[in-house]
Amino acid sequence: MKRKLALLILVSLAGPILTAPAAMADTPKITVAASILPLADFTRRVGGDRVEVETLIPPGASPHAFEPPPSVMARAARARVLVYIGAGLEPWADRVRRSHTDAVAVVEAARGITMLQDGDHPHHEGEGKEVHQGHGPKAKEAHHHASGNPHIWLDPVLAQEICGKIAAALIEVDPTHKELYTANLQKFLAELEDLHQEITRRTAAWTIKEYVCFHPAYAYFAQRYGLREVGVIEMAPGRGPTPKHLRKLIRDIRHFGIRVVFSEPQFSPRVAEVIAQEAGVKVLMLDPVGGRPPYGSDYIKLMKYNLDTMEKAMK
Ligand SMILES: [Zn+2]
Repeated sequence: MKRKLALLILVSLAGPILTAPAAMADTPKITVAASILPLADFTRRVGGDRVEVETLIPPGASPHAFEPPPSVMARAARARVLVYIGAGLEPWADRVRRSHTDAVAVVEAARGITMLQDGDHPHHEGEGKEVHQGHGPKAKEAHHHASGNPHIWLDPVLAQEICGKIAAALIEVDPTHKELYTANLQKFLAELEDLHQEITRRTAAWTIKEYVCFHPAYAYFAQRYGLREVGVIEMAPGRGPTPKHLRKLIRDIRHFGIRVVFSEPQFSPRVAEVIAQEAGVKVLMLDPVGGRPPYGSDYIKLMKYNLDTMEKAMK
């Protein structure tokens, strides 16, 4: 009897708590760990104020050379959603995934996307068939995933596909806010589509379609907009060019009437400057990752900055 009463009290106490409208309560934000700035920006745009996004690779660091310290691995392991590119760009992401419980959603952006291999470039003969992913410190870990050139985010059409995957992951962990995520996604997709239209319109008017850049970061961008990467200074960051390769780059620059060699803020511009001086052209900077003024962590602003820069050299 006494026991029954206690149970009754317990039930009546629990009652109001259990029936409190969950949707009205301020549910905690969804923590997201994104490997690179553009993925963090995509997630913020889709998640709005429902997400707390952390970028794992700090601005200024090259994603290729980045090996996360234990503090970054720990932060990544605490997040409820993990967003990364895949294709060997972040070989350490496998370790984060293994340390996670089932309660986590994972977005491997490259999964399901047709990857370009560096061997696809007709002008890289003599460089062997090594794929771009091979330059990561632990690239072998990623072999069972998508492989190839990882720079898919620099194509605004593929960016739309990535945002769709991010929205699906947020809905998976936070289904009560599905409508919000869907509405945010639609709005951002429209902005990405506008960006794509603008790039299509402007690149079509360029008289020079060929370019030389630091490493094969713009392969998907070039494919989308009918441009042609005739050479890169380093096939993989850290693998410096041979004298023979440099001579070939200079020949190509002259042959195609290229006016500029593109460097990158994450790497020393020294080799680009040597080539440019030898070929009598200028050096301009393209940023494949972001995080600097004037674009900061804003993907669309970053893309427009790169577009403006290319236009100066190729129009
Ligand atoms: Zn890269």
